[in-house]
Amino acid sequence: MRLSQLPWTTLKETPADAEVISHQLLLRAGLIRRLTGGIFTWMPLGLRVLRRVEQIVREEMDRAGALEVLMPAVQPAELWQETGRWDRYGDLLLRIRDRHERDYCFGPTHEEIITDLARRELRSYRQLPVNYYQIQTKFRDEIRPRFGLMRAREFVMKDAYSFHIDQGSLEQTYAAMANAYTQIFTRLGLKFRTVEADSGEIGGARSQEFHVLAESGEDAIAWCDGDDFAANVEAAPALPPRAPRPAPAEPMRRVTTPGIRSIEEVCAALAVPPGRCLKTLLVDAADGGLVALALRGDHELNLVKAARLPQVAQPVTLASAERILAATGAPPGFAGPVGLRIPLVADHAAAALADFTCGANEDGYHLSGVNWGRDAPEPATADLRNVVAGDESPHGGGPLAIARGIEVGHIFQLGDKYSQAMKATVLDEDGKERTLIMGCYGIGVSRIVAAAIEQNHDEHGIIWPEPMSPFHVTLLVLNPKNSEPVTAAAEALYLELHRAGLEVLLDDRDARPGVKFAEADLLGVPHRLVLGERGLKDGVVEYRHRASGAEQKVALHETATFLRERIHSRPS
Ligand code: ATP
Ligand code: MG
Repeated sequence: MRLSQLPWTTLKETPADAEVISHQLLLRAGLIRRLTGGIFTWMPLGLRVLRRVEQIVREEMDRAGALEVLMPAVQPAELWQETGRWDRYGDLLLRIRDRHERDYCFGPTHEEIITDLARRELRSYRQLPVNYYQIQTKFRDEIRPRFGLMRAREFVMKDAYSFHIDQGSLEQTYAAMANAYTQIFTRLGLKFRTVEADSGEIGGARSQEFHVLAESGEDAIAWCDGDDFAANVEAAPALPPRAPRPAPAEPMRRVTTPGIRSIEEVCAALAVPPGRCLKTLLVDAADGGLVALALRGDHELNLVKAARLPQVAQPVTLASAERILAATGAPPGFAGPVGLRIPLVADHAAAALADFTCGANEDGYHLSGVNWGRDAPEPATADLRNVVAGDESPHGGGPLAIARGIEVGHIFQLGDKYSQAMKATVLDEDGKERTLIMGCYGIGVSRIVAAAIEQNHDEHGIIWPEPMSPFHVTLLVLNPKNSEPVTAAAEALYLELHRAGLEVLLDDRDARPGVKFAEADLLGVPHRLVLGERGLKDGVVEYRHRASGAEQKVALHETATFLRERIHSRPS
């Protein structure tokens, strides 16, 4: 591609509304343009990156035996009503009405559509297993579209759905997909981790996520180097403390804490560490009342775990100030287990506290030296908290480490959740009707582009992993207007590199060298060649590797060979 033929605008300044580096660099390098909140246009150079990712995903899905289809983006409400998700999916679903007043949505995912297809197309166990996939545009009306392509409203997903006669067959395809995903993220040149996940809204049994490791990741993932444990913090079990609870040593005391509510304020005012405080959160109960959830002051409530308690209303909702006042006699910030008249569940670590500090259920008062069994009833216990770094791995291999990750893939064993609701069956060997067993497998294709930048950039711009780069190499021509021989030599080299199977971005614009260098760094193609008058006289181009900064002169006639030896991701 010749840059002189491309209306390419880069931005020097960081766009004000772009919070994360990938969003900033995607805009600054002119790879995407924002239309409106969470909706973007892929510009010519950006689209090349997206296509490269799609291509690797497609190759690995094909290799794993999945069959490509393309389903409609617009989906009739009736199918979503069959599974009950028309109501349950909530405001994330973009609803549309046609001229006949019929309801549709713009697909955020395709379980309903594929299950409808399967019940029409599949008749016999002999047609199974089958795995359909597509690479397609989804729409989710995210509450806070942000971080550019990372949490967009309109985005590109690869979604696959497999159908089976039994669980054993599902497990085989699931393993093949896990393997294909590992291949995909390895081939893309990304540092990633596979972690156990919560299966969330989609439901079902086993599920794993694939995370690109990056500081800016929205998810926390926990793993242990000493064993094979790796899980999303959402889904990581916290072991109960091993040591038995110490015996009470202090008397219970009532202390005045006027206007002091948060754990930090209480700890500062009373000079106790958060790990010796009890945090009592009141949430709406399934029976219409309230439930108290007690955590150690230095621990955080895990919403996924809380949602699993049968006593708790779905979705987990913190009680309103009025309801807290009515239930405890005090405004929010002063709840505690002593004299509490609503049911309480304590996290294992909170239940192991002795002589702790907590709210007194009285405005402006806390209690210190409190003990379970003496001052408050022995609590019901459950795992309610997020694991933290240093916690013991549930697999016993040592302490957990925590890192940030960007979820780029998610695979699920769905079971019969959708096929049951939509009566998708086939005939088995004995001619009996059997409900299909399903798996589903997503990849955030457009999110991968952002995640790759989050992981690979410096102060000058993007540093593409070679397999995703829009080009193999950029060829900068210095002052082409002033030198006919330089232009001719550049043109000849450009064509030669093409013949060698390399995709080249030729910067033949009539622009200052400084601008060309800066923009090449911003765009982040891994290999750069510079050809100018002086080099041409010596018969050389100047080579520079974007990631390492390594530079060297290369003889013009050896350039193609030189590059071919360094570029591993070129088409063969
Ligand atoms: P998240 O937890 O990030 O909201 P999800 O669990 O809802 O994602 P899935 O339904 O598993 O997402 O979708 C499959 C993949 O699609 C995700 O792994 C993610 O990479 C991508 N994805 C989901 N939502 C978005 C979005 N708003 N913008 C870009 N990519 C997305
Ligand atoms: Mg997910």
